[in-house]
Amino acid sequence: MTNKMLKFVEITPQMPSKRAAKTRRADFAEIYGDYIKEKANAQASRCSQCGVPFCQNACPLHNNIPDWLMLTAEGQLQNAYNTSAATNFMPEICGRICPQDRLCEGSCVIEQSGHGTVTIGAVERYLTDLAWDEGWVKPLNPAQERSLSVGIVGAGPAGLATAEALRSHGWQVTIYDRHDRAGGLLMYGIPNFKLDKSIVKRRIKRLKDGGIKFVLGTEIGKDISFADLQKQHQAILLATGVYKARALSVPGCGNTNVIEALPYLIASNKRGLGDTVTGETAEGKNVVVIGGGDTAMDCVRTAIRQGAKSVSCMYRRDETNMPGSARETKNAKEEGVHFEWLAAPKSVHDKNGKIDYVRAARMRLGQKDGDGRQGFSEVEGADFKMKADLVIQALGFTPEDMHALSPDLKLTRWDTIKAHSTRFETSLPGVFAAGDIVRGASLVVWAIREGLDAATAMHNYLLAQSLADQEVLK
Ligand SMILES: Cc1cc2nc3c(=O)[nH]c(=O)nc-3n(C[C@H](O)[C@H](O)[C@H](O)COP(=O)(O)OP(=O)(O)OC[C@H]3O[C@@H](n4cnc5c(N)ncnc54)[C@H](O)[C@@H]3O)c2cc1C
Ligand code: SF4
Repeated sequence: MTNKMLKFVEITPQMPSKRAAKTRRADFAEIYGDYIKEKANAQASRCSQCGVPFCQNACPLHNNIPDWLMLTAEGQLQNAYNTSAATNFMPEICGRICPQDRLCEGSCVIEQSGHGTVTIGAVERYLTDLAWDEGWVKPLNPAQERSLSVGIVGAGPAGLATAEALRSHGWQVTIYDRHDRAGGLLMYGIPNFKLDKSIVKRRIKRLKDGGIKFVLGTEIGKDISFADLQKQHQAILLATGVYKARALSVPGCGNTNVIEALPYLIASNKRGLGDTVTGETAEGKNVVVIGGGDTAMDCVRTAIRQGAKSVSCMYRRDETNMPGSARETKNAKEEGVHFEWLAAPKSVHDKNGKIDYVRAARMRLGQKDGDGRQGFSEVEGADFKMKADLVIQALGFTPEDMHALSPDLKLTRWDTIKAHSTRFETSLPGVFAAGDIVRGASLVVWAIREGLDAATAMHNYLLAQSLADQEVLK
């Protein structure tokens, strides 16, 4: 092993510079700056090159992290990028938005030994941003053209990953999406301050330039029937994500100023992209966001940037049991978000037709459940009021009615699509499924992983179809 590694004792972990909370509150620009070359090399050199790399095991894509860290430390940056891009189609996106504290960095042995994790995500982002600048990101150029075609429903990370993998084999790929822009939640869910939209756009442009067709503003099941789609393509991938919002069910929740998280975030992202949109903004309001996941964190931080008077996050468990990324919660606190832990809404009250306050119950934690999360119960007689002009519900998402596409599509008891665990075939021949619509609301990196696995199975399926067609022609 090179003597450039194992520097974790003398070099402390350092993220790229973070903009001061005061300035980042005022705009939607990304909050982290870029590593300079020397800093990236030094941070990569902290890796201990474990025989069994726990970081790699904890990464859903099994990225070859120790190898590209070593190449980075040695200054072999193009090789490092190539190694990182070999397993991940969107490394700069994962480097920005993976909850690394729960994945690769959370399993880093140096972190476990108290020296602070190697900043894996930040180095991954640095390498791929550099690769784009230096022209190392190659165009999508299939070595041969194949005649059979694939229809992909959903242009989110799962659909895009499958499209890229299948197109690189030469299959004809068309992606359909009901939104007017591709990217799924990368474009319209996740705010700019976590993921600048230019990063998503350049990925999509590369796919378009590589011959993938995008049919946008087209909902399958409404604008084109699923049966017609099946007639047009020899294989189909369903990568539709999960969009049915879990709703509050307390008295007063029907007030017009009690809104859902996703339309709020979509409107904000569209404004950032220059569109003219109506819809609620937080400007000048006391905002209460209910929920403790990534969506809730994106809402509170969006509300801060829209100039809210006050922003509070209400969550029924405590900070330790929060499902969202600890890093994002820290960022939200720095930006001025108030957290009301161990609290759950009981009713929403209005004055002259406008929301006035939320009445909330104080909660206490109980025993751990089978998943290791603590249960909770109400503390009697400890209700309190929170001033509110706008309440945003960020309680998670479940699937829409997938039987509307085809009643023969088998679903799980959670209404997600039932698909084979590695081949991602559904109950319908030639129809595959991947991403949140199979796994339930999850992460971008898992959507990419499943999209790639589905692509492998679809490629084999299409090869078998081609052979069968040739037999018929003989
Ligand atoms: C607000 C928010 C913040 C998040 N932040 C993070 C984060 O920081 N890090 C992270 O890893 N994950 C995050 N996630 C989760 C992550 O975005 C998802 O797990 C991931 O996008 C799922 O990818 P997907 O391709 O399965 O679905 P999606 O990204 O949801 O894409 C599905 C696409 O299918 C389209 N579609 C649906 N039905 C139809 C139809 N009938 N016809 C045509 N098109 C259709 C939709 O318009 C959409 O574009 C966040 C999620 C949300 C909601
Ligand atoms: S893809 Fe995500 S989990 Fe894997 S190495 Fe990159 S940041 Fe870590």
